[in-house]
Amino acid sequence: MKRLLTLLAVICLASFSAQAQDKTAVKYASTITPQDMKAKLSVLASDDFQGRETGTPGQEKASKFLEDFYQKLGLQAPVDGTYRQKFSMFQSDWSDVYIKTKSGKKVNGKDIIFFGNANMAKELKLATVFVGKGETLDNMDVKGKGVIAMASSREMLEKLNASGAKAVFIISADDEQFTQTLPRQARRALLSRLRFDKVAAADESMVFYITKAIAAEMLNSSADKLEAAASNPASIKPRSVSLKVTEKLKELKTENMVAFLEGTDLKDEVLVISSHFDHIGQNEDGTVINNGADDDGSGTTGVMEIAEAFAQAAKEGNKPRRSILFLNVTGEEKGLLGSEYYSEHPLYPIEKTVNNLNIDMIGRVDPDHENDRDYVYVIGSEKLSSHLKVISEYANITYTGLNLDYRYDDPNDTNRFYYRSDHYNFAKKGIPIIFYFNGVHADYHRPTDTVDKIEFDVMAKRAQLVFHTAWILANRDQRTPVDREDDMTYNR
Ligand SMILES: [Zn+2]
Repeated sequence: MKRLLTLLAVICLASFSAQAQDKTAVKYASTITPQDMKAKLSVLASDDFQGRETGTPGQEKASKFLEDFYQKLGLQAPVDGTYRQKFSMFQSDWSDVYIKTKSGKKVNGKDIIFFGNANMAKELKLATVFVGKGETLDNMDVKGKGVIAMASSREMLEKLNASGAKAVFIISADDEQFTQTLPRQARRALLSRLRFDKVAAADESMVFYITKAIAAEMLNSSADKLEAAASNPASIKPRSVSLKVTEKLKELKTENMVAFLEGTDLKDEVLVISSHFDHIGQNEDGTVINNGADDDGSGTTGVMEIAEAFAQAAKEGNKPRRSILFLNVTGEEKGLLGSEYYSEHPLYPIEKTVNNLNIDMIGRVDPDHENDRDYVYVIGSEKLSSHLKVISEYANITYTGLNLDYRYDDPNDTNRFYYRSDHYNFAKKGIPIIFYFNGVHADYHRPTDTVDKIEFDVMAKRAQLVFHTAWILANRDQRTPVDREDDMTYNR
């Protein structure tokens, strides 16, 4: 029933569209141009910004660029007179982790792979037993010991996990393959994910992935003998093994960029228009740069253009009724961290935050739309409020005429994009959101995501759609009600 009403409402709105254009809105939307977008994005996605990775000098350049821009627009600086919501994140560096053997130290990321959490001031000497494929594990007491096991079943790993062993060493099934894939694994093993807390985890745990050759050295045996003893591990004598795990804590300072436009009679209510301005950076020596023109230089440029249009309107006496926060978050590529930080430390009360319009990738045309360029994926618009999609449709029919593609709203879609960008941290707090997206393409998260591939005419239309939707949301009498909370129980 509700669906039918919604549909009727859209049809009614559509039939009035020719007369219903708000000339004031059209005037400011027209300041959002392909030329302006190209000028801004060419700076944001230049090599000079080094791929804008969170906490790097390249990102700081992007922060400064945004800061100067918002200042020039005359928008309010809401954090003690600045445009920066600063915070620290932490990361464990596990490069000082090794096992000592006859032939020398076997080091994490070079010879072995370590996953776990511990921090010791000096080397640990550990009585260590070989358990082969673990078939006899049930009858053994390995509490507080080191356990060397051959990679076998998931069941065995679970048993080892529950055994109370102090450290577990897993022998690779294939040494050659282990050595080949080690450089790829090393990245994850050497640096933990960024986190908000200084302390990683409460429990100490140590799992080492090692080659058969290293295991043989640790046990003063040979690879062949270990192989032969897989089901009869008692034939290999226990040994004492020395190892060390040192956690080096890294602190990364970063910030969300924020600029505020105060509304008029409904100024306590805030609409958030967002993008993420971080990206995945460059390789170690700076020879390969991931410029992130589409991801999410395009969304950040969109937010800047929309901010400019609203700021211009305000200067000419056309302030929005509600306030608008322009938000460029950090740490998206590290796990939606900047938006999580904002949603946990909001500058304006969450209950007064009416909507979030989030733009993440609007500069490209995906392979599915090569013959239908004027499109955008609109995601999540009816998850929490039945009104929001209607308003979005109205804005599009009246002003921009794009093909709004809703395929990713299908709860069975395996991409699960609704959960994969910053708007989700607002949705989690019960704030109705819309996520604007052009879909993935061959250059996604690659050094080839560059400005020359951006289709600025389509990108400007998409940003205009966000602007018009924002204009309506900021000026209408009622905020969009949350009338569809049940959808949030969707099984993740
Ligand atoms: Zn992105």
